[in-house]
Amino acid sequence: MSKVILRLALLFCVSSVLALAGRAQQTAAADPIPSAARASYSAFDVNAATDAYLAKVPPDKKARSDAYFEGGYWLILWDFLLSAAILLLLLESGLSARMGDLAEKITARKPLQTVLYFLQFLLLTSILGFPLAVYEGYYREHLYGLATQTFGPWFREQLIGLALSMVFGSLLVTALVGAVRRLERTWWIWGAAISVVFAAFLFLIAPVFIAPLFNKYTKLEDPQIREPILSLARANGIPATEVYQVDTSRQSTRATAYVFGFLGTERIVLGDNLLKATPAEIQSTMGHEMGHYVLNHVYKELFYIAVLLAVTFALLHRCLEWSLRRWGARWGLRGITDVAALPLAALILAVFGILYTPIGNTQTRIQEYEADIFGLNAAQQPDGEAEVDLKLGEYRKLDPGPIEEFLFFDHPSGRTRITAAMRWKKEHLPGAPLAPAAAHR
Ligand SMILES: [Zn+2]
Repeated sequence: MSKVILRLALLFCVSSVLALAGRAQQTAAADPIPSAARASYSAFDVNAATDAYLAKVPPDKKARSDAYFEGGYWLILWDFLLSAAILLLLLESGLSARMGDLAEKITARKPLQTVLYFLQFLLLTSILGFPLAVYEGYYREHLYGLATQTFGPWFREQLIGLALSMVFGSLLVTALVGAVRRLERTWWIWGAAISVVFAAFLFLIAPVFIAPLFNKYTKLEDPQIREPILSLARANGIPATEVYQVDTSRQSTRATAYVFGFLGTERIVLGDNLLKATPAEIQSTMGHEMGHYVLNHVYKELFYIAVLLAVTFALLHRCLEWSLRRWGARWGLRGITDVAALPLAALILAVFGILYTPIGNTQTRIQEYEADIFGLNAAQQPDGEAEVDLKLGEYRKLDPGPIEEFLFFDHPSGRTRITAAMRWKKEHLPGAPLAPAAAHR
């Protein structure tokens, strides 16, 4: 569930770019457009141009980013196995039932019992899951040179995250358990509705109350960077008068850029790592992010999540009833309305999550591809796009097989994105039937 919440909070597509500190000018001079990507319309071969861009990455760097990304496939499995082990331990040891009893002893009020149970559950699972969280979020990121934080500040942010989960998780779980208690047969549909309203609420407050807990946001002053972005925003009907910058370099070498906005809080944000990229790269990235905004991806995602959660909760209901009949007595659980059944619900959701991975990845990958196409048309920087895609390739495998891309990629691969950019470039070259120069007159 926390992953769903996290994903919702980050709905405003965080597109990450590895900017290379202090190497921006050098990049512009030393990395010219490959000759295969300079051919005239009749001689332009999209695949050859794509290959030429991909060949710019040295083999050792490619091997490193492949290893980082492929390690992520295994982490999906380890995350699942560790969560399953922890949840089964809570059930088998009777600890979950005892935590439920303790909450009932402290208060007679049902919603408060849920909160007290959930806080024990969250603390215990966070502590037991901590070693893998350190490996995944701290050690491994440093191993691949992607992290900039020492352990102290990193740990502090984990604690802030835990505190936020306590507050927002308590609210959501109490509402959901309340729905199960009152509407035992139809809770799944109300549960989906509650979750979507909750997600929209998080999305609304995230830029104002949550994001500033981790990073500092300031107005971008450099007109050389700001003015083209605002021009691009005006051209695409985005009501923004300021561009903000955020100190993402505090945590990581990846740069983020996003456009969020909900009910009039539209805001364009650039991560400070991205400021070191070339203007063409920045404009191409912002074109992509504005695509998410103009194509209403946030609203489509909320609708999608509503349907997905209704189906998920309906299935969860059946699986819960079945497994409670089999093991309920053994684990000291009184039924579906017993809050101590939460680890069982989490376990079933974790199994769903594994099965859902390729579908969820495909759903977001399609939206990312839409934003890419929008960005190419809006920013008209296909070579900037190709360069950004290569930088993203520092932590996302550049050239996977099609099945691998289908299963594991929540963004299109570097090859897919550069192919789209080169295809766009070819059809806008002088001599193309589209004749872009004439179209503007
Ligand atoms: Zn995106």
